Amino acid sequence: VANGEDFSVHRGAPGKGQGELHLEEAEQAGEGEDRETKEARQVKAERDRVSKENQDVPHWELQRMIMEYQRRVNFRPLSLNDDIEEHLITVAVRKRPLNESDLQKKEIDIVTILNKNTLVVHEPKYKVDLTKYLENHTFKFDYNFNETCSNEMVYRFTAQPLLKTVFEGGFATCFAYGQTGSGKTYTMSGAFGENDNEQGIYALAATDIFQEVNSLKLKHLNLVISCSFFEIYIKKVSDLLNNKKTLKILEDGKQQVQVVGLTEKVVSSVAEVLDVIRQGNIERASGQTSANLNSSRSHAIFQIYLRAKSNMKRVYGKFSLIDLAGNERGADTFSSSRITRLEGSEINQSLLSLKECIRALGRRGAHLPFRGSKLTQVLRDSFVGANSKTCMIAMVSPCVSSCENTLNTLRYADRVKELGGGGDAHL
Ligand code: ADP
Ligand code: MG
Repeated sequence: VANGEDFSVHRGAPGKGQGELHLEEAEQAGEGEDRETKEARQVKAERDRVSKENQDVPHWELQRMIMEYQRRVNFRPLSLNDDIEEHLITVAVRKRPLNESDLQKKEIDIVTILNKNTLVVHEPKYKVDLTKYLENHTFKFDYNFNETCSNEMVYRFTAQPLLKTVFEGGFATCFAYGQTGSGKTYTMSGAFGENDNEQGIYALAATDIFQEVNSLKLKHLNLVISCSFFEIYIKKVSDLLNNKKTLKILEDGKQQVQVVGLTEKVVSSVAEVLDVIRQGNIERASGQTSANLNSSRSHAIFQIYLRAKSNMKRVYGKFSLIDLAGNERGADTFSSSRITRLEGSEINQSLLSLKECIRALGRRGAHLPFRGSKLTQVLRDSFVGANSKTCMIAMVSPCVSSCENTLNTLRYADRVKELGGGGDAHL
């Protein structure tokens, strides 16, 4: 339509000398085509071009608007030289890159990370007359990692600063939150593929822990390191280091929670830790009709314990690293399968409890609703105690088709740290 108008304006444009018009006409006539036909041909060519562009790049209009937005803003991505801050609760966002399969689906990237603290989601919207526009949602977090950041970079600002707490004899906890396919497992477990072999936060933390316990400062404590790896699926707790044996949770009179019979494997090198991770991940995916789907519907909890040789009964310090179940909603809502609906509501409930427990940690002394789910029950230590610290990494996919899930993830992450006061307290 717009092109048609252009042509009509041009045709009737005043001020154009008669002579010029005659010249053009003469030229066109020379090509054996009158002006009307040529214009019609041009209009058609333009329509075909747009239609082809629509097929090749269905989101070209959206892409153009995002590029327009990006041209007008300043970027200052997080750098290795940036300060590492001390928070009781750290909330960070990591955006994964578009991958092959996204590109095949002609996906585009609708998440712009402006700087360390600021990120923008460009939500496509339609006006009443059906013209497209962007609704730009701005969010602030402690750190935002763009698609070029490595696991090591993410680790440096999120989990690594928590090690101090563990060495001081406290409880540190790091959560990976987000929809299925957003990069939780990649970040926590790492990639074991041939093309992409990148250590994740579990292994990076273990490496630092081994180094530190052998340092001069800690050597006298004679600390022994061990790991456990288990999952929670609906209400079932399974040991990933013991053939998925079902485990019971017990709470004593002092509200101390225990996972009874959980395998705790003593490890003496990073290679052994990597073996534990690999074994656990295989267990996690095993025995399921649809491995991919099911493992994304469970919480995986990897824990590293420090115990003094002289007193192995007592945990000196503990680092819990959790690959949470996918938080996506919607797709399952209309599913007729009872189990999927049960899964969905259970995951939802546990993630709501988790948010409340982290917020309670932020307001020290506040009521701690840890019995709200199995997940928060087994992690009770993470939310109490004088020396507990937490970090949440909210993973997002850059894809336009994930826009709603991405916004949900960011809103949740935002509320985890929303002021009650303590949540944002610098220590
Ligand atoms: P989730 O555990 O949240 O379901 P995954 O970690 O399995 O998601 O990631 C989904 C896919 O994206 C995997 O193929 C993974 O290798 C890839 N991926 C995720 N994050 C990254 C990243 N930062 N860089 C490269 N590939 C990634
Ligand atoms: Mg996963």
